[in-house]
Amino acid sequence: MPEEPCQCPDCQRFYREHDRLIRENPTLRQQQELSWAALQSFRTLAGRVLEDLQKTQPDADPALATAASGAATSSSADAGDPDAMAQALADLENINAHLFSIEALMERIFDVRVPEAVEQKFRELAGELAPDPLNADRLRLNRLLHQTPDLPG
Ligand SMILES: [Zn+2]
Repeated sequence: MPEEPCQCPDCQRFYREHDRLIRENPTLRQQQELSWAALQSFRTLAGRVLEDLQKTQPDADPALATAASGAATSSSADAGDPDAMAQALADLENINAHLFSIEALMERIFDVRVPEAVEQKFRELAGELAPDPLNADRLRLNRLLHQTPDLPG
């Protein structure tokens, strides 16, 4: 028997999102743009959070730190565990470094353009992989999933 894919709520959310991204971006060009936008939004937000947190850390520029924490003199009085915050900053720095590397790799993927016939093949297979959620087969499958007793909703 083939192994059944996991149907926990997290996995189901992933399958739905995965299929939606194929359905709504069924060409190479659209997948390129989608991935690029996702990467850039991740970098923008994570980079900005890191920058902001670094300004408020006790070991950052003292003048900035004091201004940001409202003249608090003791760093131990700051909200949260300083070790946990230092670890989070290190993790965010790592993430940002990795995102930067991924961007460099992605640029090569995004230089590629394919003929319309190939884009048509992308559309055709996208339709097979992630059919319209309102089509009959998909609706039947959804009903079956919703009847499974150990699933919410
Ligand atoms: Zn799962």
